[in-house]
Amino acid sequence: MRLSQSFYKTLKEIPKDAQIPSHQLMFRSGMIQQLSSGIYNYLPLALRSIRKIEKIIREELDSRGCEEVLMPAVQPASLWQESGRWDLYGDLLLRFKDRKGNDYCMGPTHEEVITDMVRRNLRSWKQLPWNLYQIQGKFRDEFRPRFGLMRGREFIMKDAYSFDKDVESAKKSYWKMHEAYTAIFKRCGVRFRSVDAATGEIGGDMSQEFQVLASSGEDLILSCDSCDYAANVEKATTPGVEESPDEGAFKAVEAVDTPDQKTIEEVSSFLGADASAFLKSLVYEVDSKPVLVLIAGDRDVNESKLQAALGADVLRLASDSMVEKAVGTIPGFVGPVGLSGDLSIVADLSVTRGVNWISGANEADRHLKNINIPRDFTPERIIDIAFAAAGDACPKCAGGKLEEHRGIEVGQVFYLGTKYSKLMDCSFLDEEGKTQPAEMGCYGIGVGRTMAAAIEQNHDENGIVWPVPIAPWEVAVLPLQLNDDAVVEAAETIYEGFRMAGIETVIDDRNERAGFKFKDADLIGYPVQVVLGGRSVAAGKAEVKFRASGEKTEMPLEDVVAAIRDWILERRRGEA
Ligand code: ATP
Ligand code: MG
Repeated sequence: MRLSQSFYKTLKEIPKDAQIPSHQLMFRSGMIQQLSSGIYNYLPLALRSIRKIEKIIREELDSRGCEEVLMPAVQPASLWQESGRWDLYGDLLLRFKDRKGNDYCMGPTHEEVITDMVRRNLRSWKQLPWNLYQIQGKFRDEFRPRFGLMRGREFIMKDAYSFDKDVESAKKSYWKMHEAYTAIFKRCGVRFRSVDAATGEIGGDMSQEFQVLASSGEDLILSCDSCDYAANVEKATTPGVEESPDEGAFKAVEAVDTPDQKTIEEVSSFLGADASAFLKSLVYEVDSKPVLVLIAGDRDVNESKLQAALGADVLRLASDSMVEKAVGTIPGFVGPVGLSGDLSIVADLSVTRGVNWISGANEADRHLKNINIPRDFTPERIIDIAFAAAGDACPKCAGGKLEEHRGIEVGQVFYLGTKYSKLMDCSFLDEEGKTQPAEMGCYGIGVGRTMAAAIEQNHDENGIVWPVPIAPWEVAVLPLQLNDDAVVEAAETIYEGFRMAGIETVIDDRNERAGFKFKDADLIGYPVQVVLGGRSVAAGKAEVKFRASGEKTEMPLEDVVAAIRDWILERRRGEA
């Protein structure tokens, strides 16, 4: 590509909303333009990198027997009504009507459409397993689109779906995809970790995320410092079992006045007690019913663990009026003692590890001291619903401690089971002639987010430092003086040599100063720059700069193409 003829343009200014390096660099290097909030034009440089990521994905999936399809972006509401998600998916789903008044949505994911596609072909167990994937544009009406392609509203996703005849074979499909993802992200040249993940909206009970490690990542990951345990904080289990409090230590219950002291901070400073002495008592609305949730005052409730444990479709903090109706007082003075038997109480394991708790008295401006399980209250269930935190003991091994990292979720694999196949009647006849719902899995990779995450992890103060396998171009040839015939001739010869050798190369043949060309080349992050200046060309030499290491070396003009070609070819396929 000749830059003199290229559409591309680098920019000096950074848009105000570009808070993280990958967004700033993608904007400044002319990779993307924002069309509307969370909606982008992909310009040539971005698309070249995206196509490479897609190629890696296709190669790794095709070689494992997956087949590519392409489903529409626009989906009829009727399918979402069959799965029940039309009502459950909430505001992320962009809904609209056609001219006849029929409801549609822009697909945020394709479980419904693929399940419908498969049920029309599936008859017998002999046809399975199937694994179908697509690379396609998704739309999610994100509450806060941000960080450029990292969290857009319209974005490119690879989504795959597996269909199996039984649980055992479905788990094999799951682990095969896990292996494919590991190969894909290795080949993309990013440093990542696979971590246990919560399943959320999509359902199912086994899931892992692939997280690119980066300090700006939105996800908090906890990993053990001595074994291989790693989990998203949404999923991470806290160690320990239910304990039996020492009844001998129980003190007599005492009511205390706490006028206007509602939060744990307020009451703890008012009573001179540590936050850990409190029982945090929260009323949740769980599928329209109130549930009282208890946890030690220095811990926080992990709502995704709570939702999974209760098997709830919708879970949120109850409104003040629901709280008042359920316990007879306003939030701030709620507690587990003296409630009517109808309200179910769920406690975190931490509640069994202390005695003489302080909590609200279910009466305005009053708290109770010295309340204890089982003397004063009995939770229906005592389970792990707390956020794990750095410094906690590892839930998997003895002696390990959890450490925190930040990550960018670039992919996720889910074992779905029969949730969609049952609801949508996607079934087959098994070996005994009985009708069975297909066992499903679903698997996503954010293609644009992977590119953004690679930049987030690989840049310096001058610009992007592309991993070779996903760099938009591999080499830039920079002739510094266009009025020097020898320079121009050497540059053109080398440029042509690279093109013949199949190396993806640009030549910066713009009539610009050397400093300008260097800055641009560093910003765009070509892995190799071949610099041709008057003096070195006269001496029969080129200067070669490797972007990642910053290393510069002089080479005879005639050696450049072969040496750099070999260097690129060694790295093009990534680590896999
Ligand atoms: P997040 O938790 O970041 O909102 P998610 O878990 O809802 O993402 P999935 O349903 O697992 O996303 O989608 C599969 C992949 O699609 C994600 O791993 C991510 O790489 C990508 N992705 C999801 N939402 C976005 C978005 N708004 N913009 C860009 N990529 C996205
Ligand atoms: Mg996810």
